[in-house]
Amino acid sequence: MYMKRILLFLVVTGLFSACGQRQLVETELPGPVPDDSISFTPPQNLILLIGDGMGIAQITAGMYMNGNKLNLERCRYTGLHIPCSTDNLVTDSAAGATAFACGIKTYNGAIGVDPSQKPVPNIVEQVSAMGMPTGLVVTSTITHATPAAFYAHQPHRDMYEAIAADLAKSDIDFFVGGGTVDFVGRQDGRDLIGEMRNNGFFLTDSATVSFDKVEIPFDKKFGYFSSPNSPVKVSEGRNYLPLATKKAIQYLKHNGDKKGFFLMVEGSQIDWGGHANDSDYIVSEMLDFDKAVGAALDFAEKDGNTLVIITADHETGGYSILAGSRMGKIRPGFTTDSHTASLVPVFAYGPGQELFAGVYENTAIYHKMVRVLNLNNKVQP
Ligand SMILES: [Zn+2]
Repeated sequence: MYMKRILLFLVVTGLFSACGQRQLVETELPGPVPDDSISFTPPQNLILLIGDGMGIAQITAGMYMNGNKLNLERCRYTGLHIPCSTDNLVTDSAAGATAFACGIKTYNGAIGVDPSQKPVPNIVEQVSAMGMPTGLVVTSTITHATPAAFYAHQPHRDMYEAIAADLAKSDIDFFVGGGTVDFVGRQDGRDLIGEMRNNGFFLTDSATVSFDKVEIPFDKKFGYFSSPNSPVKVSEGRNYLPLATKKAIQYLKHNGDKKGFFLMVEGSQIDWGGHANDSDYIVSEMLDFDKAVGAALDFAEKDGNTLVIITADHETGGYSILAGSRMGKIRPGFTTDSHTASLVPVFAYGPGQELFAGVYENTAIYHKMVRVLNLNNKVQP
């Protein structure tokens, strides 16, 4: 029955997103190559890397500050997505991530719910129902908007304790991120750490052991809190993102050897550098994220059975690279300390990569992932 509901949901949300597009995007944009004209062997594994707030200028600055190269360039297919939400041309991270995770446009602030605040199934729930292990690795708190949309259903992104409770009962098998504070000392008195341990999790944190020293037990669910609150900047000593991406892949590959796996990695603080109008912050976070991209691409190249998708939810800062910049030195400009509505780049590598060329709504990322993993056809009556 659950599978039938998923199938119905996929059809309904497809129609819904088309309506959302009509309301907000008045100009007809050139469409992507129709998906059904492209044939490929579906990959087993899918790795989605989200550079929060990572627009074209953030990528360009990272490249020019890194000897004119990035791992991102190893992708052979690129596209652009239209990031608007239902209530604003300028999306926030919650509506943006819900578009990727659930395939629907919704209002800014919504976590895995539609405009009427009804929960909508997400890709983690769908692939978990197929027996695939799932993971999240982020440099924000694990309850922050982007990761939350992949396991939680709450009307507003600020409901951190409710979001943490959703993680405790979710299908996530592996996570690394900050935010112990939402799991202990809660207003409702629940000890989520204890509940998760009883539910098969091995949990530890940065106060106990640094990430590079953790022995990850492959036969249990795994969670690592990289900070009690938000993790620090990479420039202030945070160093786990590339390694955690590598370890997540090892763990998920081991546990998903037959059925495949799904991993979402977020470079959360590229966005925070944009909000702060701090070009050095943007570039250092961009390059840290690009190392995680490199780890994912190294695996995908060897494995041959993995699709890697790299994108952002929106651009932040109206960041630009002004005259007077040169290789190794950026003269930055900013037009806002908030997000912008610019189209957002998408990069893909691996089986199904061709689907990601073109210009399409952010919700199409979800529908393309569903097509790539052949989820519609794997759904049993
Ligand atoms: Zn964002």
